[in-house]
Amino acid sequence: MRRVIVIGGGISGLAAAWSLRGRAEATVLEADDRIGGKLRTGTLAGVPVDEGAESLMALRPEAVDLAQAVGLGADLRDPAPGPVTLWSRGALRALPPGHVMGVPPDPSALEGTGLLSEPGLARLRQEETLPAPPLEARDVSVAEYLTGRLGREAVDRLVEPLLGGVYAGEVDRLSLRSALGPVAALAGPGGSLLAALRDRPARPARAVVRGVTGGTGRLAAAVARASGARIETGVRVTALRRAGGAWRVATASSGVLTADAVVLAVPAHAAARLLAGLAPEAAEALGGVRHADTAVVSLAFPPGTEAGLPPGNGFLVPAVEGRAVKAATYLSRKWAWPAGGPCVVRASLGRAGATLPRSDAELTALALADLRAAAGPLPAPLATRVTRWPAGLPQYDTGHATRMARARAALTDLPPLTLCGAAHQGVGIAACIASAYTATR
Ligand SMILES: Cc1cc2nc3c(=O)[nH]c(=O)nc-3n(C[C@H](O)[C@H](O)[C@H](O)COP(=O)(O)OP(=O)(O)OC[C@H]3O[C@@H](n4cnc5c(N)ncnc54)[C@H](O)[C@@H]3O)c2cc1C
Repeated sequence: MRRVIVIGGGISGLAAAWSLRGRAEATVLEADDRIGGKLRTGTLAGVPVDEGAESLMALRPEAVDLAQAVGLGADLRDPAPGPVTLWSRGALRALPPGHVMGVPPDPSALEGTGLLSEPGLARLRQEETLPAPPLEARDVSVAEYLTGRLGREAVDRLVEPLLGGVYAGEVDRLSLRSALGPVAALAGPGGSLLAALRDRPARPARAVVRGVTGGTGRLAAAVARASGARIETGVRVTALRRAGGAWRVATASSGVLTADAVVLAVPAHAAARLLAGLAPEAAEALGGVRHADTAVVSLAFPPGTEAGLPPGNGFLVPAVEGRAVKAATYLSRKWAWPAGGPCVVRASLGRAGATLPRSDAELTALALADLRAAAGPLPAPLATRVTRWPAGLPQYDTGHATRMARARAALTDLPPLTLCGAAHQGVGIAACIASAYTATR
């Protein structure tokens, strides 16, 4: 059987190893002392807490299907029902149901919500009567395209917080094609976007995301187990060299390994470093992907605190509000586990182009101050944890798809080497799994 080395033991690398089972002899090399990458479940005040990703996108099949295939079907949970809430214009305000990435098909649903000012709402209503801006052949930013249709306020206060929750990105740089391509295509070149959203076939009524009881870290462990691959942690790959039609993979701690093929399942910046001498054009393209530094502050409050939290499972914050926190999740309520334990809330901080404070104490204080300002009085936390994700989220800036195609094309003259991960087909877990399947195919 062909020997394949998968570099990176995050969900992308693990899904790649899993999809190779029975077809190749796979070895996963992970630099960290644990697998999972951004799927990391720790313990806070005695309960499991996801410190990175906490939910699986369920509107596309890959993550849920993989969880079921590796034996976690009975552990998948729907979140508690509740609206998407925005902390905007001075209060927590629920987005009316039926929105698509924050855009309501019928603007009248926003009346009385306070989500937009009167002029902002009036501008949104004009979408169906104003001539539609051209759908450019070049990739444009989400803001450039949507401002012409919906008005800037709707972009900043409805669309940006939802996209920010996924990409931590800037709407003025985020690629329309990569982030909202299918939504933009709905309206076509001349039609109304709102009318197109109204005409869409109704989506089946089911949860948009699902969780894994006990945390998403269990998904990484289960995929690793089911893959049958050799998994080596604490092994950092330092260089790749071609050896005829195969590969020699140098590591910091385990010498040099040989393989018939390599799957590079590391973040784009790490892939760029490993490819620098071998495929400079690919390295240049990958190295040009910007990344956002993000952090998660998890706070465990005394049991019973949950009753005083506002309705819903948390809130998103538009960047124009100028707050430190970009999203908050009432984890214990959202996933209803473990019963009777502390009330765990997590705050996400960090946006592309911004720098996070260096002190963890300062991050925690910022998170707590914003949570109290948004959600009302909260007791002193029993325990807190700061988890930093430096360069944690790749930015799908305009031109991203072309850039990544250039990286892939520059690898065709090498022995088999493919790329996957959060910079390729989308940042979410499901998209990472899809990129792993593409890579191993
Ligand atoms: C705070 C946060 C919250 C998120 N929440 C969600 C969510 O709720 N739902 C969702 O779908 N997505 C979420 N995401 C996005 C998603 O979690 C990630 O995009 C995804 O997990 C990335 O997986 P990956 O395997 O591509 O990369 P990673 O998880 O980064 O894994 C790459 C691995 O490669 C290893 N590595 C790097 N260099 C080397 C080397 N030289 N040698 C060996 N190993 C190396 C790293 O140590 C790492 O373990 C979130 C992301 C963050 C940062």
